Amino acid sequence: MKYNFLGKTNLQISEIGFGGSGLGGIYGAIDEKEAIEAVHLAVQKGVNYFDVSPYYGITQAESVLGKALEGIDRKKIILSTKVGRYGYNDFDFSAAKVNKSFQESAKRLKTDYIDILLCHDIEFNPLQQVIEETLPALERLKKEGKVRFIGVSGYPLDIFVEICQAYPVDLILSYQRYCLFNTSLSLILPLLHEKGIGIINASPLGMGMLTSSGPPEWHPATEILKRKCKEAVELCQTQGINLVNLALKFSTTHPYISTTLVSMLNSFQVNENIRILEERWNPESLNKILVFFS
Ligand code: NAD
Repeated sequence: MKYNFLGKTNLQISEIGFGGSGLGGIYGAIDEKEAIEAVHLAVQKGVNYFDVSPYYGITQAESVLGKALEGIDRKKIILSTKVGRYGYNDFDFSAAKVNKSFQESAKRLKTDYIDILLCHDIEFNPLQQVIEETLPALERLKKEGKVRFIGVSGYPLDIFVEICQAYPVDLILSYQRYCLFNTSLSLILPLLHEKGIGIINASPLGMGMLTSSGPPEWHPATEILKRKCKEAVELCQTQGINLVNLALKFSTTHPYISTTLVSMLNSFQVNENIRILEERWNPESLNKILVFFS
């Protein structure tokens, strides 16, 4: 496993992280024993970064991850969770909720500190509140030693630019913006890098769109993009290539991206994804697929 520094934090983070949304059942009901085994295997194989949110499975993901991490040396794990989003349409970015949410998450995760606390999906809330109330509340938790680093997550890129100019966040989490069908994150990476902001990339498999199983029903992408991804999967299949290999490898190669979060639901996916990282590139296949998506 390769480890990278995460911005100006002193964290050395594994090049892929364990995305915990699947633990909350968002890709279908999980077998808890299988999911816990997957977490253990990931730790054993050198994955040191685990991300969840109280939103994933409405606290289920945090509870399952908490159980899975019991007995594992806490100092060897970088744990991130989030505040602000608690349901599809349930947001609360107030300072009071930040404190309550942190305590509840820490309890479910069976820890007394969180390495990375993120404001979750900030585009759904006025940015002014995030800047003037939510981030200062996170900063207080940091000063109290309860949280090591703070940041924001979301989809639009302009929110990251606005936030990083208004508040000294340690890192940002962006999703589906540096993968085979969308590389727009690269437009703001130099600015974030210059400011020393750590970059966490998520959803390298497009929340399932770049896999043969396809996206879950709730996937927010347009039908056009879903169809294009399905065609890409089929095109690769005719050539004996698994698109997952190209997708994961591609998303982990940008020098300014410290880690890429991928949801792993079982030990097979953990083994597969780690094997893919160790594989050599096939530049010809990659170019073909990038042209296909261009
Ligand atoms: P993803 O691109 O990781 O896709 C996950 C899907 O790919 C799941 O269905 C999983 O079963 C499947 N998969 C994984 N490995 C596979 C393999 N080897 N072969 C076939 N299928 C495989 O998308 P994601 O779940 O959105 O992102 C990963 C993580 O990033 C999330 O769990 C979460 O932690 C984080 N994230 C955060 C935000 C946010 O903060 N706003 C948004 C998106 C994602």
